[in-house]
Amino acid sequence: MDKAYTGGCACGAIRYEISGEPLVMNDCQCRDCQRKSGTGHGSYLTFPRAGVTLKGEGKHWDIVGDSGNVKTRAFCPACGSPVFMTFAAMPDVFTVHAGSLDDPSRYQPQMVTYRVRGHSWDQVDPTLPQFDKMPPM
Ligand SMILES: [Zn+2]
Ligand SMILES: [Zn+2]
Repeated sequence: MDKAYTGGCACGAIRYEISGEPLVMNDCQCRDCQRKSGTGHGSYLTFPRAGVTLKGEGKHWDIVGDSGNVKTRAFCPACGSPVFMTFAAMPDVFTVHAGSLDDPSRYQPQMVTYRVRGHSWDQVDPTLPQFDKMPPM
């Protein structure tokens, strides 16, 4: 079995350990991800929730995304780092921010979502499949 994916927030108050491989890894250029990341896109790994062990309490914030689905973003109340996301419509998945990994080199984006919202100053890998919105799941 492969090594677990571990990570957490900048101060260490929130930690996760995830067994299993990501279902999908994507760069997302939607406006919500721009606001929350502070730059042009967010980078995410989405896992089956069953393999997730979480330590520490995040602050939660619900937002209706461009897709119309409710996303719950969890960030550290102490250091403010965004750590993970869950989705009301997809309770079986758990999404972490690539930058929160202990080894961020394990993030290997497979696609770009919400390309239509991207900015010319935020170039993502042009060889990746690009979707104007979310691809059909
Ligand atoms: Zn923290
Ligand atoms: Zn997004």
